[in-house]
Amino acid sequence: MSRDTAAWRALDSAHYLHPFTDHKGLAAKGARIVTRAEGVWLEDSDGNRLLDGMAGLWCVALGYGRRELAEAAYRQMLELPYYNSFFQSATPPAIELAGVLAELTPPQFRHAFLTGSGSEANDTLVRLVRRYWALRGEPQRDVIISRWNGYHGSTMAGASLGGMKPMHAQGGLPIPGIVHIGQPYWFECGGDLDPQEFGLRAARELEAKILELGPSRVAAFIGEPVQGAGGVVIPPESYWPEIQRIVDRYGILLASDEVICGFGRTGSWFGCEHFGTRPDFMTLAKAITSGYQPLGALMIADRVAEVLIEKGGELAHGFTYSGHPVACAVALENLRLLRAERVVERVHDELAPYWAGRWRELAAHPLVGEARCLGLFGAIELVPRKPSRQFFASRGEIGLRCRELCLRNGLVMRAVWDTMIVAPPLVISRDEIDLLLSRAVRSLDELHQQLRHEGLV
Ligand SMILES: *Cc1c(COP(=O)(O)O)cnc(C)c1O
Repeated sequence: MSRDTAAWRALDSAHYLHPFTDHKGLAAKGARIVTRAEGVWLEDSDGNRLLDGMAGLWCVALGYGRRELAEAAYRQMLELPYYNSFFQSATPPAIELAGVLAELTPPQFRHAFLTGSGSEANDTLVRLVRRYWALRGEPQRDVIISRWNGYHGSTMAGASLGGMKPMHAQGGLPIPGIVHIGQPYWFECGGDLDPQEFGLRAARELEAKILELGPSRVAAFIGEPVQGAGGVVIPPESYWPEIQRIVDRYGILLASDEVICGFGRTGSWFGCEHFGTRPDFMTLAKAITSGYQPLGALMIADRVAEVLIEKGGELAHGFTYSGHPVACAVALENLRLLRAERVVERVHDELAPYWAGRWRELAAHPLVGEARCLGLFGAIELVPRKPSRQFFASRGEIGLRCRELCLRNGLVMRAVWDTMIVAPPLVISRDEIDLLLSRAVRSLDELHQQLRHEGLV
């Protein structure tokens, strides 16, 4: 199956509807066809090499081209390509994976429900939260609180939990019983408050919402430790401890969506460990297989699992691919490698401090209103005039232009409105970090020059 770029593009626009894509716009321009990859490097159908600053979609923790993962899949496909976990069956990889997840996650977690994706894991969360409260004799406790600009997936429940208004506008979302509060995004929403004060204020929106709804109606709160798709929103340190205080005070369940933060992105194994919360659920996906196979998991804390198991009878929920043996075999090998190669410890001890030093240099650039980072996350805010935290008038356009310039300079950097974000593979080297930064700076310089000519800065 080898075609040239023009032929791929023609076939693509004739038949393939892409996720999160404006098809009319894409047809005019043509997709970037990625054909192969190695380490942190992508190659497109014209032979261009791109440094993948986004680890695919946040998932390729171990980088591309790991033979061990391919071989784990191959071995499992020959041994047992598929069997399910319905009706009192199971397969060795699914069982082993649940065991390893219980070992790796915080001590309150000893049970995993396996899915094909993060969205499915969050759908499972909605079902289990409501089931839990019904079994506890409080069926009216069915409201789940989440945050505007959070991202929890794209199924009906996932997109409802998420706080992306353009997603809600398509398909009549959110579904009933899901409400949103503000996000801990100081750069945009902090006004004159200092970040720590603002973090407390943002967390106390949860308390206000609980009191508005009536505490006996509220089942759970869900949040990403660091909002990923929302623009790498790193909350002030005051935020999560205050959230924990509030969920404890009102006895509601806490769900940590670790689909991006999990498996080392923050420098800890899980984001909740970095921020010191004690969740009742954790949603996992993405780096759980380094993206080599689709897989998600919902971790369920003992106090919830006990009720579901002791009182629940049959759980009327599951997916054909829950515990898919090939996906689980790849996850097991991926987790073995993350541990054996001490990838997370290396991020924490070596890479993150180096990354932070280099990333913060970007704050000196005339277009950069803020350069924030944590672990191997990085974000910059593009603004017309410093030190004001005002965005460009046509918010979003400048970010897309920056993204295009980065691509031309051989770097994949994502634009969320005018916030530029990166989250490279966790195995990136220092030299590759330097290269990523120099390509980012070159792109920012070119953009700045263009905007000066246009009188926009
Ligand atoms: C990507 C993502 C999801 C959804 O995972 P899918 O595998 O795309 O369904 C859920 N939550 C967060 C935080 C994510 O980043």
